Amino acid sequence: MWVCGMSEARELRGKEIATASNQIERVDRRNYLVKSQSGRGFYTVHSENASGWQCSCPDHMYREVKCKHIWAVEFSLRLRQAVQPQVTVIEPIDVHACLYCQSPQIARDGIRHNNHGNIQKFRCKACGRYFTINLGFERMKHSPQGITAAMQLYFSGESLRNTAKSLRLIGVEVSHKTIYCWIKKYVALMEKYLSQIKPQVSDTWRADEMFLKIKGNPKYLYALLDDETRYWIAKEVAGDKFSREAPEYASQLFRQGKEVAGKKPLTLITDGLHAYELAYRREFYAHEKPVTKHVEHVTWRGEKGNEKMESFNGNTVRSREKTMRSLKREDTPILTGMQIFHNHVRPHMALHGKTPAEACGIEVKGENKWLTLIQNASRSESSNHQ
Ligand SMILES: [Zn+2]
Ligand SMILES: [Zn+2]
Repeated sequence: MWVCGMSEARELRGKEIATASNQIERVDRRNYLVKSQSGRGFYTVHSENASGWQCSCPDHMYREVKCKHIWAVEFSLRLRQAVQPQVTVIEPIDVHACLYCQSPQIARDGIRHNNHGNIQKFRCKACGRYFTINLGFERMKHSPQGITAAMQLYFSGESLRNTAKSLRLIGVEVSHKTIYCWIKKYVALMEKYLSQIKPQVSDTWRADEMFLKIKGNPKYLYALLDDETRYWIAKEVAGDKFSREAPEYASQLFRQGKEVAGKKPLTLITDGLHAYELAYRREFYAHEKPVTKHVEHVTWRGEKGNEKMESFNGNTVRSREKTMRSLKREDTPILTGMQIFHNHVRPHMALHGKTPAEACGIEVKGENKWLTLIQNASRSESSNHQ
């Protein structure tokens, strides 16, 4: 009983040391210095292999017990693991290696024909799987560069017609209707792929609605954003923001947010729109902890504190109003494309050139992020079918 009590006391002290500041210094993966709790110097906590820790304190050396210093190192390692965000890196795909196992041992294996010409098929000598090199663009008449340039131009704010005109300058002859088809096809592909990767958003979210014209009709785009990283978590398109259906749309927005982030926020910031209050009570309010706080910024449009939302409004959506007239009611690929552009492609000044997704632990590598995303989405799609 007494021994048990002593070891519990060591564990408890270890926890206190681990959570206090400046008590543990990391030398390297196997060596830590833990401050002597009597105030003189450090003890060294060392691990020869994965089997366990040795401490230089008398408690460990002579009594051969698991001392509070070892407990402290173990706790601090566990704490670090818990706060260290998991990073998902999406790499460009090397088109000269096997798509599946990255082996460079590949061989030509016949030609596949389609309307737009011939596609070289390859077989991997290492894993035996078949693939084509033009991943994601196999049946396309135009090059990956032309197609991704179109997406970049369009989502940076050009109209479909202007995008087509600009492409003509680089020798890509294409109609604005074809560009629209590319966007639809690739946005759907990327959306499916990206929905499997969870962004690590903060605990403070903001909701706002933006005025849009879709086919000349006034609409509202409801958006839910992470306040820290500006990650655009969820969206919903609705008619009138004061209509009887408005709380329903706001609730859908919040439900979608919970699904995407895998959690509820601790703080929700909205303007004074009544629909948000009702939706908050439905989706976020709880009796037991953690309780989500709802902060309403009633006068927020003229306010300074709303710069984040304003810049989202201005850069991402408002400048698009002109080019949105061709949108149909159910036409979400464009809005989803804007969301992908905002989260994964466009670097943000306020994030020191990072994208919101990078700030949430999703790093899309390569000069051409559209290309990286499309390649990875196609590979994931084709391995699902194998
Ligand atoms: Zn010790
Ligand atoms: Zn292979």
